[in-house]
Amino acid sequence: MNIYQRRGVPTIINAAGTLTRLSGGIMRPEVSAAMADAAGYTVDMATLQAHASDTIAEITGAEAGYVASGSAAGLMIGTAACLTGLDAGAMARLPDTRGLKNRVIVPRSHRNSYDHAVRTTGARLVEVGLPDRGSGAGVRDTEVSDIAAAISDRTAAVHYVATRISQPPLADVVAVAHASQVPVVVDAAAELPPQANLRNFIAEGADLVVFSGGKAIGGPQASGILCGRKHLIMAAALQHLDMDVVDDLWDPPARLIDRSRLAAVPRHGIGRPCKAGKEEIIGLLTALELFVAEGDEARHQRWLADARAIADHLADVPAPVTLTGQDDPTAVPKVSVHLATRAAAKALHDRLVDHRPAIHLDVSDYRSGTVVLNPMCLRPGDAARVGNALAAALG
Ligand SMILES: *Cc1c(COP(=O)(O)O)cnc(C)c1O
Repeated sequence: MNIYQRRGVPTIINAAGTLTRLSGGIMRPEVSAAMADAAGYTVDMATLQAHASDTIAEITGAEAGYVASGSAAGLMIGTAACLTGLDAGAMARLPDTRGLKNRVIVPRSHRNSYDHAVRTTGARLVEVGLPDRGSGAGVRDTEVSDIAAAISDRTAAVHYVATRISQPPLADVVAVAHASQVPVVVDAAAELPPQANLRNFIAEGADLVVFSGGKAIGGPQASGILCGRKHLIMAAALQHLDMDVVDDLWDPPARLIDRSRLAAVPRHGIGRPCKAGKEEIIGLLTALELFVAEGDEARHQRWLADARAIADHLADVPAPVTLTGQDDPTAVPKVSVHLATRAAAKALHDRLVDHRPAIHLDVSDYRSGTVVLNPMCLRPGDAARVGNALAAALG
């Protein structure tokens, strides 16, 4: 019996992808083993984060890195860092931002529910641009000139959500922001693969970038990477680490926290509720190294084998089935089933959720009648179970 069975909690088959509400993905045994090893010892957390910084810097090309409890946590402490810099008084005041640069510019088309993490710091979002291509009435999105026009002496940062279709291009946003010494914070939580994105946004000049540890990287569900400029990572660390320290005894690792740059020792900061444990930090670093070692090609083949296995079971069903992302090693291969109506898609969804174990699909396109099977979070043998259940449900 597994731990969930012993506790009477039903497990599911997650064919929806690395969704947080479905518990993300599956960790490799090496990652679980590293976490168990980590749990058996105690360490100084600032020393562990300094090691994490070295590892993340090496892999991302950033000056420094940090591990938080997720991408959203990384966005919060990263934004806090942009608001306060190394001013301990400002850190203590957040989320009261009176007297600070507290405006964060965001292209209107980049707004999403995760910007709560930005607003939690006390920052005020300034939305810019008119994404009229979204309404079908035009062809444009936010323009760099919209961002340039919005920058003022109150601007703390530009918030940029990276996707394959984000506009304006990041490099252009960086150019206008840096012309006014404004940092750019990139939410790239789910932008892996391609693996090259671990370095791309930093190479394009982003000052801070976040990636989720619990998505494609395959780390603990509650982990995330923040990487970027050294002084901003230092400011983020100071607002996340436990700061119950005695001033004259406190001796943090200088490559993460350079005490000579601090006028005073900050107290617990706004990020303290986003605590990451030693187990998460070690798990994330282990998973990150395995992710890099596997490479896009091998990962794509692993996922493709499951996607093909599902599609093979659907060869005779009376609905069009497509396998996408087959030929692109940087894509996640997926199986789409196109039902005639939304009602038919709902019926299929309901039937699979009633399957034991329940099977969850990607339903983001369900209103158009399409359901999608994503192989990223399947266990060995799940692809055949999903294929059989789908074939039976579709008759
Ligand atoms: C998943 C996601 C997040 C949140 O990441 P966590 O690691 O779950 O905190 C933020 N932004 C985007 C775009 C995401 O896809």
